[in-house]
Amino acid sequence: MRAAVLENAREPLTVREMNTPLLGPEQILVRVSACGVCRTDLHIVDGELTEPKLPLVPGHQVVGTVVEVAQGVSGFSVGQRVGIPWLGSTCGICPFCTSGRENLCLSGRFTGYHIDGGFAEFTVADARFAFSLPAGFSDLQVAPLLCGGLIGYRAYRMAGQGARRIGFYGFGSAAHIIAQVCRYQGKEIYAFTRPGDQSAKELALRLGSSWAGDSGQKPPVPLDAAIVFAPDGALVPLALQAVDRGGTVICAGIHMSDIPSFPYDILWEERTVRSVANLTRTDAIEFLALAPRVPVRTEVEVFPLDGVNEALTRLRTGRIVGSAVIDLSCP
Ligand SMILES: [Zn+2]
Ligand SMILES: [Zn+2]
Repeated sequence: MRAAVLENAREPLTVREMNTPLLGPEQILVRVSACGVCRTDLHIVDGELTEPKLPLVPGHQVVGTVVEVAQGVSGFSVGQRVGIPWLGSTCGICPFCTSGRENLCLSGRFTGYHIDGGFAEFTVADARFAFSLPAGFSDLQVAPLLCGGLIGYRAYRMAGQGARRIGFYGFGSAAHIIAQVCRYQGKEIYAFTRPGDQSAKELALRLGSSWAGDSGQKPPVPLDAAIVFAPDGALVPLALQAVDRGGTVICAGIHMSDIPSFPYDILWEERTVRSVANLTRTDAIEFLALAPRVPVRTEVEVFPLDGVNEALTRLRTGRIVGSAVIDLSCP
């Protein structure tokens, strides 16, 4: 099969032939049709996440069709469309797994990081961590829901039910999906983008944001919560200054540059800063049921497998509007 392979960190991916993976116990073999490109893929390729298996097939927003099912696996059949997200497996017995927090599992393994992922024509996945996908979305359009959507949704829930005015720092894949969920649930959105990023501001306004401005600007009203999607630690003190007393700042990325020191004043009055890590299968089930009710419509920029390095470069330099997706359906 053809695959895009990370041989060493800080090098471009190599698109080459490799052996089609063999089905193991508890697994399904999937012919991949689409795989979303996530900022986490960039952090892996750029060596900021330091423990990938090598060589590695990245990609953890995998959409495809089941072609083989291991003996004893229930819930999946040949020909069925499935999605494979970042959470690849958990131990099931650690204190986090047994308290509804499998996203924090002490020995969690992640797709496209510890396990080969979806920038390939085929992949295998532990069936217990794969999902049936809602109808009404094409393969290319459903792919970004599998990380931008799922982890974005987990971050959004951390804002709390009572949060009405929500700021987004960075308006890319996750934000453009969660903005639609926010509007559906009657929330107001305030979008902060890189200075001069007019296309992200336009997308935010088109998706119903009340306001769009540069990340250094103050919003017109104090916010109840802010989600920092961009991997820039300097945004955290800015977000703290944008939230009202009692407000929460949620850091949604897996990696972020250092947060500069800031005066206690801007944390005072019960403001909170917290992070969100990974996802649980319950997050996936909830969000994949909610997305078609909204209904979420993703904006995707499609690249062939040979264009994977261009997709990564464009994402790194902030030149993707919405989500980037690799199309594996064409030969
Ligand atoms: Zn565990
Ligand atoms: Zn991701």
